[in-house]
Amino acid sequence: MATRNVVLTRILAVAACVTFLLIVAGEDASQDAGRKESSASDDSSSADRGPAPAHASPDSVHVLVNKRNPLSPRDYAPDDLRNVDAPHEFADAPLREEAAGAYEELHRAAVEEGIELWVTTAYRDEDFQQTLYEQRRLQDGPEAADRVSARPGHSEHQTGLAVDVADLQDRECYLHPCFGDSAQGRWLAEHAHEFGFIIRYPEGAEAITGFHYEPWHLRYLGAETAEEVHESGLTLEEFWDLPPASDYAEAYDPDHAEAYAPD
Ligand SMILES: [Zn+2]
Repeated sequence: MATRNVVLTRILAVAACVTFLLIVAGEDASQDAGRKESSASDDSSSADRGPAPAHASPDSVHVLVNKRNPLSPRDYAPDDLRNVDAPHEFADAPLREEAAGAYEELHRAAVEEGIELWVTTAYRDEDFQQTLYEQRRLQDGPEAADRVSARPGHSEHQTGLAVDVADLQDRECYLHPCFGDSAQGRWLAEHAHEFGFIIRYPEGAEAITGFHYEPWHLRYLGAETAEEVHESGLTLEEFWDLPPASDYAEAYDPDHAEAYAPD
């Protein structure tokens, strides 16, 4: 009788231990899952996870396009383009509605201060960008082309949020870094952010942005964000804590080989 009681007590003790261990293990497992979930959400803006949704969405005014972040889809085209109502060099100067309105305000303010500005190019579609890039590649070679011309799908101009400007009365610094020292370039560096634009490719930031200094290339971000970026003195990649994009991850692979081949 006594032996049976001892055995029974041991069986109950072992069962209680196993139950305890199972409960503890279960708690551990669920806590672990909780940690993983929270760490995943904490890391969502971290550099090694790639752009957050707003930076990846081509319809967002916060989309980030660079050598490491192509537009998705690559042939994206905005559906709210319209010509800016301001002087432009070529027949068309389309921007997305919000950016077009902001550029018109910027232009009016510039003119009031005696600064004449013309839009050179604004929106460019994927095919046109491919033609431009391939011309440059044939003319200057792949390395030089990649420093000055974006590959199709990687150009901010394809977002409808970027615009190149110039002084057509004095073309000496037309799409040239010396535009930054012109009256127009200085005015833009000081005031573009007030209208929602930044100088997207600042001087000395090629290792981050992937492009040489382009004081003529304005990128629309909305007034609030443009102000913050301007005040920070950072590139857009740094401001959003996203990886630098000095080069492409892959070799150029045109979809249309016949368009790339010289004839
Ligand atoms: Zn540009």
